[in-house]
Amino acid sequence: MDIKIFPHPALRHVSKPVMRVNRKLNAIINEMFELMYKARGVGLAANQVGLPLRVFVMNSSGKQGEGIERVFINPVISRQKGMTIAEEGCLSLPELEAEVRRPEQIHVRAYDLQGAEIDETLTGYESRIVQHETDHLDGILFTDRVSPGVHMEIVPTLVEFQDAFDRLHGDHYEKFMADTISYLKSIEQEYC
Ligand SMILES: [Zn+2]
Repeated sequence: MDIKIFPHPALRHVSKPVMRVNRKLNAIINEMFELMYKARGVGLAANQVGLPLRVFVMNSSGKQGEGIERVFINPVISRQKGMTIAEEGCLSLPELEAEVRRPEQIHVRAYDLQGAEIDETLTGYESRIVQHETDHLDGILFTDRVSPGVHMEIVPTLVEFQDAFDRLHGDHYEKFMADTISYLKSIEQEYC
């Protein structure tokens, strides 16, 4: 398992709800936490590791053994209130940071790994992380949500990511895409 870097196609995949939680999914979640800590992140969505599942992990402390580890399965956001601007980054867009406007307060419903219902109102940093990660599950990146002015500034960096991707996959692009799509479909059949 590794973190997929923009513009990997899995990052644009709209994930389907998870219907089955098994031991293998538990192992996947553990590995996602490991990867998140190693990359110094505070959240990681399943499609960032190439899995088309409506699941993300989060620890707003960003440190193993500190804070609270949380798993959100099939999250649904509602009742957005207020608006706030803050810098965001993403493990799939290393070293890029930009200001993103988001609702300040949200309500989120989801399930945790034990099947218990999450039904909470969040504000501040946790609200922002949950919104950023839920966006991932819909194939949305934070760079899609920046203002036109900020977007102009980050375009050169996005082009660099695209160039690096093309250098890696350009000569076998069609096979890579076909393999990725068939892999995503096989995982969906197992869990969704
Ligand atoms: Zn992200």
